[in-house]
Amino acid sequence: MSKYWSKLAAGVDPYVPGEQPKDKKYIKLNTNENPYPPSPRVLEAIKTVANESLKLYPDPNGDELKRTLAEYFGLKKDRIFLGNGSDEVLAFSFMTFFDSGFPILFPDITYSFYPVYANLFKINYELIPLNDDFAIPVDQFFKPNGGIIIPNPNAPTGEYLTLEAIEEILLHNNEHVVIIDEAYIDFGGESARKLIDKYPNLLVVHTLSKSRSLAGLRVGFAMGHEDLIEGLNRVKNSFNSYTLDRLALAGAVEAIKDEAYFQVTSKKISQTRERVTQDLQIMGFKVLPSKANFIFISHPSVKAEELFLKLKEESILVRYFKKPRIDNFLRVSIGSDDEMDNFLKAICKII
Ligand code: PMP
Repeated sequence: MSKYWSKLAAGVDPYVPGEQPKDKKYIKLNTNENPYPPSPRVLEAIKTVANESLKLYPDPNGDELKRTLAEYFGLKKDRIFLGNGSDEVLAFSFMTFFDSGFPILFPDITYSFYPVYANLFKINYELIPLNDDFAIPVDQFFKPNGGIIIPNPNAPTGEYLTLEAIEEILLHNNEHVVIIDEAYIDFGGESARKLIDKYPNLLVVHTLSKSRSLAGLRVGFAMGHEDLIEGLNRVKNSFNSYTLDRLALAGAVEAIKDEAYFQVTSKKISQTRERVTQDLQIMGFKVLPSKANFIFISHPSVKAEELFLKLKEESILVRYFKKPRIDNFLRVSIGSDDEMDNFLKAICKII
């Protein structure tokens, strides 16, 4: 690290995303991307912008996308905040957390970006241990805190909290922000956005990366009471007055509008997940119940690290986390039926 920079950069321990190999053709089941391409309408919209208006700055507020999302989700436009992927939305949210003196709470096994943001922004946090079966212990979130963040479904387990469970957490927490990170909600869960009217401290974060096949475009958003959104906008506008680029704004609008395409592809992924779960269970795997576009699996006799390496030799990439409690599990993203058949064949060969 250059001596010319402050201690900030030297002191942070950055997030390491899943591998994106460039040299070799893998079946990629390691970063929870959607196996299906985005709606053709997205590509058309992006082409038009690329041909006609890239020399112009984008709309700083992304009003058309906000209007589209507002209409789709039945919310007012000023209840929506846009960001470059939900990672950026989450980063702004962490930056904006109220400093109450109490720690913010999140599960001990969860999206590994949360502790990174908390450390970067010097936010005190407490990890809430998951139950033995990896379920989120709802009542552990009733203690005094400076805010809460929970992914629903959780990552990398896929475990899901019902709307009633989320509401119970909200009923015990009206002092600080409760963030529900719904990156994977479209694969079988029920969104907490319905509760926004009732709970002005609820922020629901969503992304177009997973269920809309747009991980490469980087579009995320948050939904919440206008006062929460105003705070996020103040912080964001102090960094970057433009929200998203023109390609992302145009593509995202069409991704939301093509409801038929979204329904078909997301349902297909849930169906494939259920089929693969059954096949793996027949082979002796433990598969945690998942409402996401991935499954978390463990074999009684073959170690997860060994499976990970052998699958890689078979040109199949999955995610292995060398972390306490989950180091004998693999997270496997749900690909197309063909990809998953190849995965199952490779597993048969290995075990
Ligand atoms: N939240 C969770 C729980 C995730 O797993 C991810 C994807 N890694 C994100 C948020 C961020 O997704 P994106 O920035 O692509 O919207």
